[in-house]
Amino acid sequence: MTPDPAKPGEGDFRCGTAAIVGRPNVGKSTLVNALVGQRFSIAGPKPQTTRHRILGIVTRAQGQILLLDTPGLHADGARALNRQLNRAARNAIAEADVGVQLIEAGRWTVEDQLVRNQLADSAQPRLLALNKVDAQKDKKQLLPFLEKVANDGFYADVFLISARRRDGIEALERAIIDLLPVAPAQFVDDEFTDRSERFLATELIREQLMLRLAQELPYAVTVEIETFADREDGVAEINAAIWVEREGQKAIVIGKGGEQLKTIGSAARQAMIKLFGRRVFLKLWVKVRENWSDDEAALHLFGYSD
Ligand code: GDP
Repeated sequence: MTPDPAKPGEGDFRCGTAAIVGRPNVGKSTLVNALVGQRFSIAGPKPQTTRHRILGIVTRAQGQILLLDTPGLHADGARALNRQLNRAARNAIAEADVGVQLIEAGRWTVEDQLVRNQLADSAQPRLLALNKVDAQKDKKQLLPFLEKVANDGFYADVFLISARRRDGIEALERAIIDLLPVAPAQFVDDEFTDRSERFLATELIREQLMLRLAQELPYAVTVEIETFADREDGVAEINAAIWVEREGQKAIVIGKGGEQLKTIGSAARQAMIKLFGRRVFLKLWVKVRENWSDDEAALHLFGYSD
C-alpha cells in the first residue's frame, strides 16, 4: 500500500499484527511486557482481531503493533513444544504481518529450529531477536553466532536485545512497525489506560486482601495507589493506601505485630514483579475513612463512579 497523499501526515502510519514466537524460556513474556508495559491476561476480556486474540498493543508515533497471542508458542512448560505445533499457533503465525523469532543469544537448539521451520511455512517478513545479551559473558562470541544463525536472508533483520533490561527494544519496535502495512490505528491508545500497571497494582493488592481477609472484611476495604513512580533503575516504586471504615478493621488488616499486612504486601509485590516483569518497591498504608462507602466524593476518589 502507498501512503494516501490526500491525508498528509496520516498516510504513512502503519498498523498490523506481529507474532512473537520462540521456544519456552527465551523471554517472550518478558519481551511482550517490555513492549507494551503491561500484560493483558488478567485485565479482563482481550480485544480481538477478526480471528485472533491480541496479547498486547504497542502504539507509537509511527504506527501501532498488535501483538498476537500465539497459543502454545508462548507457553512455559514441558509440553509446550508439542503444543506449539498445534494448528491455532500455526494459523496465528501465518496470519501475522510480521513474525518475530526470539532466541537466547549464543544458543540455537532443536526447538529453535522447529520454530524457524514454522516461520518458513508462511511468506510474511521475519525478524530475529537475540535476547538476554546482558547474560552473555563473552560478547565477542555473538558475531560468529550471528553469522551462523542469520547468514541466509531468512530473517529481514537481526537484533540484539535484553528484554529484561529493555535494551534494544526501541530498534526492534521500529523494525516491526516498518514491516507493517500502511493503515490507520485499529485501537485508540486510551482504551487501555485503565489497564495500566497502576490499575493492575490496585487489583493485585485487592486480590491479596480478599484472599486473606474476605471473611472479616466484606466490602469494607478499598485500595488506592497514592504514588506510582518509575525509578531510573527500572524499579516501580509504589505507595498504596488500604482504606477501611473503622479502627477495628485497620487492626485486622495490620494483624498481630504487623504480620498480616506484611504477608499481604509481600504476596502482592511478588505478583507485581511477575506481572510487570521488573522489580517493585511496595509500601502499604492502612487508613481509616469512616463510612466511605456512603460518601460520594470518596467513591469518586476510588474510581467507582464514571
Ligand atoms: P518465555 O517462556 O519465552 O515467555 O520466557 P520468560 O519471559 O518467562 O523468561 C524466561 C526467563 O528468562 C525468566 O526467568 C526471565 O526473567 C528471563 N529473561 C527474560 N529476558 C531476559 C533478559 O533479557 N536477560 C536475562 N538475563 N534474562 C531474561
